[in-house]
Amino acid sequence: MLSVKGLRANVGDKEILKGLDLEVGPGEVHAIMGPNGSGKSTLSHVLSGRDGYSVTAGSATFAGRDLLELEPEERAQLGLFLAFQYPVELPGVNNTYFLKAALNSIRKARGESELDAVSFLRLIKEKLKILHLDDSLLKRAVNAGFSGGEKKRNEIFQMALLEPKLAILDETDSGLDIDALRVVAEGVNALRSPERSMIVVTHYQRLLDYIQPDYVHVLARGRIIRSGGKELALELEEKGYGWIDAELAA
Ligand code: ADP
Ligand code: MG
Ligand code: MG
Repeated sequence: MLSVKGLRANVGDKEILKGLDLEVGPGEVHAIMGPNGSGKSTLSHVLSGRDGYSVTAGSATFAGRDLLELEPEERAQLGLFLAFQYPVELPGVNNTYFLKAALNSIRKARGESELDAVSFLRLIKEKLKILHLDDSLLKRAVNAGFSGGEKKRNEIFQMALLEPKLAILDETDSGLDIDALRVVAEGVNALRSPERSMIVVTHYQRLLDYIQPDYVHVLARGRIIRSGGKELALELEEKGYGWIDAELAA
């Protein structure tokens, strides 16, 4: 599904990713953990094709395509979902209208017909039910004045609607309370399927109390320095990240 090899990337002239390798197969849930500033968000941004990052070496293929050659919209159309894809606040733009436009643009790229208003509402209802969400966020403007938890709910809802092949959820290091973490975790669990892979990027071990990842990776200083099963998350919870410096020095 996703194959990242020797990826190096800069922000400005500062190298942040320093030869990162990551393989994600269909249906797998991977957690990427690591200390603050290790490059977790940079990895998510580079995979999404966000401006401001330059890849200097390595490769990333997604669904058999060279991901790094594609525009961000083309990546989305191929089935890549990034949780911060629509983080912007759009006052005056109704959230339902926005989601419909996003979905129809992806459907169009897949060669599917546009959904009419009735079918779209039916789909929305179905997804709200799966996620145990109510429709209050849909009536509001996109992200405008949303709390951290509401943004997360909206994000998970976007994911449910767009039905991506690979979702990358980058949990920012601040402002997420336990309820927001639970929304993310429940969304991930509800949307798990043999055809959908997910990468959950988190600073918090406690997110993994709710999600059982197939693999856990430790990202430090721009590289994946350790990979394991879910027991690795427990080990990190016990040991923290202090051992990394010692290990990298050795
Ligand atoms: P994480 O998500 O693991 O906390 P980030 O990917 O956000 O880490 O950041 C990795 C490093 O890159 C940090 O040292 C951070 O200061 C730096 N960095 C990230 N974005 C920028 C930017 N736009 N300009 C300069 N430095 C940046
Ligand atoms: Mg950070
Ligand atoms: Mg981050």
